[in-house]
Amino acid sequence: MGALRLDVVTIFPDYLKVLDLSLIGRAAGDGLITPVVHDLREWADDRRRTVDGPPVGGGAGMVMRPDVWGRALDRVLAAPIGGAATSGGTAPRTGGAARRVLVMPAPSGDLFTQRTAEDLAGADQIVFACGRYEGIDARVAEHYRDAGVEVRELSIGDYVLGGGEAAALVMIEAIARLRPGVLGNPESVIEESHGEDGLLEYPVYTRPVAWRGLDLAVREPALLSGDHARVARVRRDAAIARTAGRRPDMIRRLSPDRLDADDRAALARHGWAIPAGARGPVELLVRSARPDDVDALADLAARTFPDACPPALTPEQVASHTALNFTPERLSAWQADPRAILTVAELPDGLPAVWLVETAGGAGAVAPRELVGYSAVLLEIADRRGALLSGLDSRPDAVEVPTRADGATGLAAELSKVYVDARLRSSGVAAALLDHAVRAAAAAGVTALWLGTHDGNRRAQRAYRRRGFRAVGSRDYDVGGRRCRDVVMSLNPQEARGAR
Ligand code: SAM
Repeated sequence: MGALRLDVVTIFPDYLKVLDLSLIGRAAGDGLITPVVHDLREWADDRRRTVDGPPVGGGAGMVMRPDVWGRALDRVLAAPIGGAATSGGTAPRTGGAARRVLVMPAPSGDLFTQRTAEDLAGADQIVFACGRYEGIDARVAEHYRDAGVEVRELSIGDYVLGGGEAAALVMIEAIARLRPGVLGNPESVIEESHGEDGLLEYPVYTRPVAWRGLDLAVREPALLSGDHARVARVRRDAAIARTAGRRPDMIRRLSPDRLDADDRAALARHGWAIPAGARGPVELLVRSARPDDVDALADLAARTFPDACPPALTPEQVASHTALNFTPERLSAWQADPRAILTVAELPDGLPAVWLVETAGGAGAVAPRELVGYSAVLLEIADRRGALLSGLDSRPDAVEVPTRADGATGLAAELSKVYVDARLRSSGVAAALLDHAVRAAAAAGVTALWLGTHDGNRRAQRAYRRRGFRAVGSRDYDVGGRRCRDVVMSLNPQEARGAR
């Protein structure tokens, strides 16, 4: 690959003096790029070196003349370019010929992105035509395009600058650093913001480890662990968190097949689900249940309960348990009682049927605002009469309730339910609800959040482990007259990652 020739045509050549500095200056010194700055007025044909005229049709400001630009660009586009076979300024590019690109910075152009920079980094010559005033006569771009030149009208953002010089400098810097040899360590471009993975970069730190009360040993211990896999995971989670917070548009464009289970769990923590068949993550609304949710919730609860039952149960056994436990009255009582943290998940925009796979629960579109999952955390607090919440299971002996860090008595709670509509299985909705439940339990002062899950349901156990739960024992129980066994898992929400 020869040097990249960068021609800048401007009425303010001095503006481009910064090309001598820093990365670009050094790359030029090393022969990796060849910046050449031209004064447009050299191609004016009057004594006053005029380059502009009033707009045809009237209006404010001045427009840059096509004849002056034409003479300048004919010349610059015909310049010989290092090593590669050169084609005439207006000749179309053919196989093996050098790639020349005419870039016309313009706020009305296509957005210049990292993808554009990567593409243009493969050119042999880029000519930047820097407009001023109201811009360059539109026939200039049209003429060179018609003549077979690759013309790119590019905007660096949705704002208006006084001229194209600053835009050209921005593009030159973004393009040049992608040329081989320009950056000392080529690895630096791999994990950057706007790279191939479609995320913003994670926050970066250097020494000192503790600075003005901000101590990485406390906040980011994994980064100091020396465990490369752990560091990579923590950084990827941080990149997902940052992108979700700042650029939801980028999250929406992530490709599901490039997201592993940990990525999906991280996305779920930030309220994004990936339904089977979806083109990308969809935003999830996780909120406290309201009184008007109760009927839909009872319906969802009855529909989803069989999914988590041991396979040996008969439909009658399941139905009798449902009729007893998932009544609107029970859910209504929980909704009204501060000792129950009842949370629901809905997809604000619904989901088209084409995104959904056939499942035992049946395919079909999810309507906007339809409840797609719920969770219930039941606090082990007695009311004035000494009664616990109805529906709260008795705490297995294996669950210990640690005291709080301030020495206060601990509090136990059962994570009684986390259920998701079958159409959204494996989408991250369960992980989002689980995360929400852990945070809510932490906020309520819970020090032992425990749950029982059918011992054959390994998938659920894996999901709970991923969120920090540990198996502490087992319990036997009865569904519709049949004995079943659960694994009992527990976690201290006060110590859980990202609990607050
Ligand atoms: N009248 C033009 C319009 O509304 O689209 C704006 C002209 S602007 C004042 C003058 C020159 O600044 C443009 O010709 C272009 O070269 C440059 N420029 C201004 N904003 C830009 C942006 N966001 N991206 C790229 N170039 C820009």
